[in-house]
Amino acid sequence: MDTLTHILKSVKQFQTELTNWYRQHHRRLPWRETANPYQIWVSEVMLQQTQVKTVLRYYDPFLAAFPHISHLAGADAQAVLKAWEGLGYYARARNLHRAAQIVCDQHDGSVPSDPDDFQKLPGVGDYIAAAVQSIAFNRPLAVVDGNVKRVLARLNQISAPVNHSSSYQHFKAIATQLLDQAQPGQFNQAMMELGATVCRPKKPECGNCPVQMFCKSFQKNTINEYPRRTPSKPIPEYHIAVGVVSHNNRLLITRRSNDGLLGGLWEFPGGKIRRQETAEAACIREIWEEVNLRVEIRSYITRIKHAYTHFKIVMDVFHCLYISGKVKLNGPVAYQWITTDEISKYPFPKANHKFFGRIRELFEERG
Ligand code: SF4
Repeated sequence: MDTLTHILKSVKQFQTELTNWYRQHHRRLPWRETANPYQIWVSEVMLQQTQVKTVLRYYDPFLAAFPHISHLAGADAQAVLKAWEGLGYYARARNLHRAAQIVCDQHDGSVPSDPDDFQKLPGVGDYIAAAVQSIAFNRPLAVVDGNVKRVLARLNQISAPVNHSSSYQHFKAIATQLLDQAQPGQFNQAMMELGATVCRPKKPECGNCPVQMFCKSFQKNTINEYPRRTPSKPIPEYHIAVGVVSHNNRLLITRRSNDGLLGGLWEFPGGKIRRQETAEAACIREIWEEVNLRVEIRSYITRIKHAYTHFKIVMDVFHCLYISGKVKLNGPVAYQWITTDEISKYPFPKANHKFFGRIRELFEERG
């Protein structure tokens, strides 16, 4: 921790420069205009893994749908996923929903101000606990997210890779030493804001940086060397075939189990194409395996490409006609036969949204 000595000698000045800058320059964001712990919690859950500009589209509508924690606790799980649709990382929504129910059952509907109680709730890890407890309750817990790690790495020329979980405690210890104990919420937000708006990943604006005088990378002209990262593995790409099965003017959709990626969301049945298998054959096989129906391909609808964080998909979508069988689920946990007008009632993954327009055109053309 010797790298930090140069800041710790004048840590008060560091905190003052940073928080003064924050007060003058921070972006006006709706979750910064409230002291309501529930609203702050919702914003922090949304902001995990998601950019501010995206969260801005979801935050107000979500709170309009669930203005109080008791509304969220009492809501149907599918309504919560629908409000979250497109934000991704749906485990966040499912955990927030379950946590709201526990808060209403066990804490009289008040977000726990005790960090230990709060951290026992589903989905509340180290980041959410520190962010919500410091901002809403002024608890002296240092936040460490990607922005904070980048700022710290540059300030102190830290070689520990920021994308490796083994480095987390190292960054946490440094952030804790710098934390302004008197106003931890504001200090944490200032560190994150500095990383988001000034000490950006590319081309940091060192000329406008309030803590430039403490920055070793700036002084040694090594900014481009920090933060360090371990090389990431190449992102795999999967080829998927999906069938829009129609029968009596209705389309078959299935719901994924709550566990795992896109848990609880609805989709059209399908799956990965095997080696040496055609997309058409994979579509027919997957529908048979997942829902026990015999279908035939009526037409090719479209090809969709979509990138998730850890992999990419290329999805070939077919219109399939029902031939025979009774739905028996193997994998999905529910199914519905719906009209095209009803598609918007259900939460679907973003990749599926990319071909909804084509489905509507197709079935409107065919009447
Ligand atoms: Fe980041 Fe530049 Fe400020 Fe250093 S001087 S903390 S590199 S913006």
